[in-house]
Amino acid sequence: MTDRLVSPLLSIVVPCFNEESGIDEFLRRALLAATAVAGQNFEIIAVDDGSTDATWDIISARSRDLPNLVGVRLMRNHGHQIAATAGLSVARGERVLLIDADLQDPPELLLMMMPTMDRGADVVYGQRSRRAGETRFKLVTAAIFYRLLGRLASVPIPRDTGDFRLMSRRVVDILLAMPERDRFIRGMVSWVGGRQVALPYERDARFAGETKYPLRKMVRFALDAITSFSTAPLRAATWVGFISAAIAVALVVYTLIQWFAGNTVAGWSSLMATVAGFFSIQFIGMGIMGEYLSRLVEEAKQRPMFMVDCISRGGVSRPLDLLTPSMHPSERRAAVERAFVGEADPNAPIARTAMHD
Ligand code: UDP
Ligand code: MG
Repeated sequence: MTDRLVSPLLSIVVPCFNEESGIDEFLRRALLAATAVAGQNFEIIAVDDGSTDATWDIISARSRDLPNLVGVRLMRNHGHQIAATAGLSVARGERVLLIDADLQDPPELLLMMMPTMDRGADVVYGQRSRRAGETRFKLVTAAIFYRLLGRLASVPIPRDTGDFRLMSRRVVDILLAMPERDRFIRGMVSWVGGRQVALPYERDARFAGETKYPLRKMVRFALDAITSFSTAPLRAATWVGFISAAIAVALVVYTLIQWFAGNTVAGWSSLMATVAGFFSIQFIGMGIMGEYLSRLVEEAKQRPMFMVDCISRGGVSRPLDLLTPSMHPSERRAAVERAFVGEADPNAPIARTAMHD
């Protein structure tokens, strides 16, 4: 039924969290770039990730004048990766560009990404050859993170690569069929495989506003990446256990030798140090298990990944039926089309999102 629907050539998905100061400039440049590669045959999906500033007001107001703009408002802040996933679920294009709203990744790169995909690539990802306007701390931690992840991950994940990438429809559909809630999109795309091509570019400084990744979110993001793509830390705990057990045996032997030699008094501080050392190793091991276990608990709950408050096109906001990873792509597409014409599915499995215009 949905097979006969015409798809736009290109969707641009942009997650936005408190981007009121930069969103207009983003839209201007993205529209220019998209028009250059796709004429009028494109859509821009701007996802408002529960912003507390005027971001949504701007997006929904602009959708009145810009027929290619689709606003998606989430019910609350879900974080960058989930907001991007929500946008990918709504996107209908043959090809989908995922990009940040802060113009650190130039939308104009589309002019090079599209021809690369014409030549048969499934994914064209931007690889940063230089990053302007980042703190030294961010540069150093990012460098360590990508190299550590490269060693640990079960699939090769390209270095210095963010989520800025053009993907084919089939890659997007596979990505959306992956049910995990801890989404490390760049790793998941690598996992899909196919022909993935790097396009080096210089990363600009943020156009306006400030980073939405404070240290706390960065640590969480790094842990998500490592736990989703490697079980090496879990196994490392086993090895550390073996090694410390071996050391403990050696210490007992040493103590016995000392005892036979008559040296029985000294050694209180070395004993305490050893005990403390071994305890901390145990706690680290337990902590690592906790990281994985807590994620298992989250997955086991099987909650919806995100809730859409409303979807806005042509200045009209309407509810959207719940989108889930288990949906067939054509079902998902049908739900989006229904939202555009204003009818919701009476048989939708779970309560529809509530907000009307
Ligand atoms: N973002 C989001 N939800 C969040 C945090 C960030 O949608 O909770 C968006 C943000 O608006 C931007 C992108 O994700 O479009 C990347 O965020 P940011 O530029 O702050 O990260 P950085 O470039 O500093 O790593
Ligand atoms: Mg940024």
